[in-house]
Amino acid sequence: METKLKINEIFYSIQGESTHAGKPCIFIRLTYCNLRCNYCDTEYAFHEGTDMSISEILSKIKKYPCTLVEVTGGEPLFQNNCVQLLQSLILNRYKVMLETGGSLPLHDVPAEVIKIVDFKCPSSKMEKKNDWSILADLKKNDEVKFVIGDKEDFDWAVDKIISHQLTEKFTVLFSPVFNRLKYDTLTDWILYCNLPVRFQAQIHKHIWNPNKKGV
Ligand code: SF4
Repeated sequence: METKLKINEIFYSIQGESTHAGKPCIFIRLTYCNLRCNYCDTEYAFHEGTDMSISEILSKIKKYPCTLVEVTGGEPLFQNNCVQLLQSLILNRYKVMLETGGSLPLHDVPAEVIKIVDFKCPSSKMEKKNDWSILADLKKNDEVKFVIGDKEDFDWAVDKIISHQLTEKFTVLFSPVFNRLKYDTLTDWILYCNLPVRFQAQIHKHIWNPNKKGV
């Protein structure tokens, strides 16, 4: 029997985050998440979805004139078959990004996949779920992201960056919690923290209505 995954949505849009922001990108959003961040903007992915085989997913994304694919969620790695999907995308010559929440193992993720690891700050109320041992499975072109809700989150993230030497090993992204922390407040903090972190906004929320799905 063919491997199936529960898929919340597949769509083609502009990559809104990471150092690949602004590029056309196909998104495959997997259903389910093991976390419950209090600012979550994709709660609709916690349960809703359709069972799709990997060949059905591949034939759906072939329609789009694009070779960059992001596998996201929810938490994509919560479904064990996610690794098989990632392998198939690589075999089919896609450039693959994986957005994951920093709580699940990465050792089975193919080396070619660009991992964006979103470690959870205290204001998310999910900080205790972070598994820092997964840093050992990241490579130079992977990215570590902190979604910052307040000054406590910012100071906490700076401490983590220093203690794990994150900016020496990876690109580190600081993104404000949308509608909670003002962009200019976060940029002021970044300008004086003396670390080479990168501010990022969620571009898609500025192009389209922030609540619009499928973009
Ligand atoms: S990890 Fe992502 S999808 Fe899951 S609760 Fe947090 S923000 Fe929502």
